[in-house]
Amino acid sequence: MTSSPDLTGRVALVTGASRGIGYFVARQMAAAGAHVIAVARTVGGLEELDDEIKAEAARTGKGEATLVPLDLTDMAGIDRLGGAINERWQKLDILVANAGVLGVIAPIGHVEAKVFDKVMAVNVTGTWRLIRSVDPLLRRSDAGRAIVLSSGSAHSARAYWAPYAASKAAVEALARSWADETRNTPLRVNIVNPGVARTAMRALAMPGEDPETLPHPSEVAAEILPLASPTLTETGLIWNVELGRFTAWQKPA
Ligand code: NDP
Repeated sequence: MTSSPDLTGRVALVTGASRGIGYFVARQMAAAGAHVIAVARTVGGLEELDDEIKAEAARTGKGEATLVPLDLTDMAGIDRLGGAINERWQKLDILVANAGVLGVIAPIGHVEAKVFDKVMAVNVTGTWRLIRSVDPLLRRSDAGRAIVLSSGSAHSARAYWAPYAASKAAVEALARSWADETRNTPLRVNIVNPGVARTAMRALAMPGEDPETLPHPSEVAAEILPLASPTLTETGLIWNVELGRFTAWQKPA
């Protein structure tokens, strides 16, 4: 896609900002001028992000972060987040719903109920609840942008990936419904299939793989940033990082 957008003055909420893809999306959005609201459970990871953003801002004068340690299974906490953003900024320009968990790679009959429930709670219910919490704020922006992280597994229905694949198919359905609801507003809602990235989640999924052969999460983040551009027109589509183009919801040929 095009180069990094100018996000000066934009307020961006990024979940899963303590490591992996979300960490670099948050850093790069701040470097592009945004005030990033960084959400995750691991305070150390959020503080490291804040240090990096502050160091970059000292050089360039651009970017700032507000850290929000929050577990995305804490529904009341998610509900409060929208109100807190409203009090401080009265709007939200960008949502990156990136946080996710893999659960377990196992035959469907061997998946423990608590593991399945956790995957659905974080990847689906948490994302829906967050959308519900910030939808009015995104609609108030002159160029609201929502980016929802999915996975090729939502379409490929691979053996042993059932909980994660089901959660990603569900979250895509949520995002597409939301995109349709908001089609006639300035809000643009798109999905990202990031392909593969050298992260903790990928190492858990593919322990035998050499991480050095995989794209660094900062490279993947750079492919996601243009979806936050105020000039973006597309909505309800999947940005396929590996193909470098938008696709409709069907698996590309
Ligand atoms: P990581 O495991 O590296 O990072 C996941 C992030 O989600 C962390 O910041 C983690 O923060 C956060 N998170 C997990 N559980 C919760 C929770 N309960 N509450 C709040 N935050 C939570 O994953 P990736 O960076 O690899 O993945 C990012 C997204 O991209 C995910 O949605 C994933 O499904 C998707 N994806 C990744 C691929 C890859 O190859 N890496 C491929 C396809 C899709 P903390 O633990 O601090 O809470």
